[in-house]
Amino acid sequence: AAKPSLDEMAHLPAITQDGVEVSLQANIEFPSEIGPALEKGAEGIGLYRTEFLYLAAATEPTEQEQYEAYLESIRVLDGRPLTVRTLDLGADKIVSTEDQPEHAENNPFLGCRSIRLCLQNLALFKTQLRAILRASAAGPVRIMFPLISNVMELRQAKMILNDVIEDLEEEGAIETSQIPVGIMIEVPSAALLTKLFVPEVDFFSIGTNDLIQYTLAVDRGNERVASLYTAAHPAVIQLIREVVRTAKRNDKEVGLCGEMAGEPEFVMLLLGMGLTSFSITPPAIPGVKKIIRSVSMTDCQRVARRVNSFDSDREVHTFLREQARKIAPEVMDEMAMEH
Ligand code: PEP
Ligand code: MG
Repeated sequence: AAKPSLDEMAHLPAITQDGVEVSLQANIEFPSEIGPALEKGAEGIGLYRTEFLYLAAATEPTEQEQYEAYLESIRVLDGRPLTVRTLDLGADKIVSTEDQPEHAENNPFLGCRSIRLCLQNLALFKTQLRAILRASAAGPVRIMFPLISNVMELRQAKMILNDVIEDLEEEGAIETSQIPVGIMIEVPSAALLTKLFVPEVDFFSIGTNDLIQYTLAVDRGNERVASLYTAAHPAVIQLIREVVRTAKRNDKEVGLCGEMAGEPEFVMLLLGMGLTSFSITPPAIPGVKKIIRSVSMTDCQRVARRVNSFDSDREVHTFLREQARKIAPEVMDEMAMEH
């Protein structure tokens, strides 16, 4: 039966047939998800969506409450890495605007969301950064800024981070901080300018959920245009390919944390484009690992080259499904059963 073989995946390494090691981490919204993610075989947390702490609370979480959530995460991870994404509030992740009608926006996805909202609310932003930095003394923590769309925005965020570090050092709350800082590549402008960001960050993480919607002008939550929303669009694939190529040429770490990486049919393509670090929803880990363990990099590169020659998402999708089915039919069957 397919189930047990997938369950057994949890504690096997994510390594291709020709010996390439792949990092598989998990996306979470709450610290309580970390234990179950580790049981599924996650090597760490590649995306902690911290805004859910805000969305779940009746009042704004205090610095101490945030600190405790991060500290708990670090404890459960027991030495494994934790990438904390700073608040990605706004657009679909919104605290009610009923009491603040002046904050209602006509185009919230193009509005004051995510890093933009943080840069306009420094008290909010600094409170979170203080909590992350204080907790980071307890384990390997990285900071990741979402929705960066230009270099100045990143520099501003880093300046505020440095201010907070100085404050904490003066207070004696931390010794000093060498916390790695990365950005999400989820806006086409940032994807196109990857090279400019290279000297300014420690790592990149491609966020395809938003990158797809902004590249294709398709709202990721709108049912009426759901068929247009696809990672298989050649423009999306080309953007990802260029980001990865630029990052790797410049020896900069690059991973992918959008849902795309958790869909078995895309695994060969992403590996073939040179990506070897993924952060995905925990239930997808065994299936993705199974595919990774069944393929060789040479096969994946061949798949990636072939995908290059297609001009529609339909062709890309059909081809990728075929390839995945050949390699790991039980993973594809299980997926089909879930849909
Ligand atoms: C993304 O946009 O790909 C992403 C991982 O972040 P979120 O889904 O939280 O917007
Ligand atoms: Mg996003």
